Amino acid sequence: MSASPLRFDLLSLFPALFDGFLSESILKRAIDKELVEVHRWDLRDWAEGKHKQVDDRPFGGGPGMVLMAPPIVAAVEAVQAADERPARLIALSPQGRRLDQDRVRELADASRIILLCGRYEGFDERIFETLEPEQLSVGDYVLSGGEVAAMVVVDAVMRLLPGVLGDAESAIDESFGPDGGLEYPHYTRPREFRGRAVPDILLSGDHAAIARWRREHRR
Ligand code: SAM
Repeated sequence: MSASPLRFDLLSLFPALFDGFLSESILKRAIDKELVEVHRWDLRDWAEGKHKQVDDRPFGGGPGMVLMAPPIVAAVEAVQAADERPARLIALSPQGRRLDQDRVRELADASRIILLCGRYEGFDERIFETLEPEQLSVGDYVLSGGEVAAMVVVDAVMRLLPGVLGDAESAIDESFGPDGGLEYPHYTRPREFRGRAVPDILLSGDHAAIARWRREHRR
């Protein structure tokens, strides 16, 4: 575990989208316990001019607007300089490498992660050429913006940090563990629901037999 909490920096045109996400449940607890640190930045703060413009029409024509290099690069460079810890810079992008649990485990070893959220048609290519971020996709579909994708990354990573999950929410023995398997079925009360009973073995108290049943029923 690193000496200081893992620091996330979220750069977005709509940082208020993270409000609820940061103020509830496991993530809020982790922030309160100083196991993780999350900073939000409004990309528009680096836009120049009266209209604080951050996007413009694409050269060559076509629909939509493209995020402009000057304000986005200035924002990222300022945020990079805001802390001396080495940071992994990640741009959320459908063209990026697809996130999986191996990548999540690897990210959980970082001391700082900067997540750059796109909007509209995405980023001017020179943003990638200048900053050389890792590009990360959360799946083969198109979201309206990188914020939801950034929340996926923060959520998946922070729950692997030591002390974040209590016993009741343990990350041990979950799906996509080191052996790549999926989890077994769970049951709780009532013992019978609409004619469907809990498997007898789970009520037997025989821990070895239960462990075997669970191994056999991994999906
Ligand atoms: N024009 C882009 C394309 O066709 O690939 C889609 C841009 S999307 C509407 C706007 C932003 O949402 C992207 O720049 C990216 O930051 C984010 N985004 C959308 N889908 C994503 C995905 N699957 N994974 C990660 N980020 C995504």
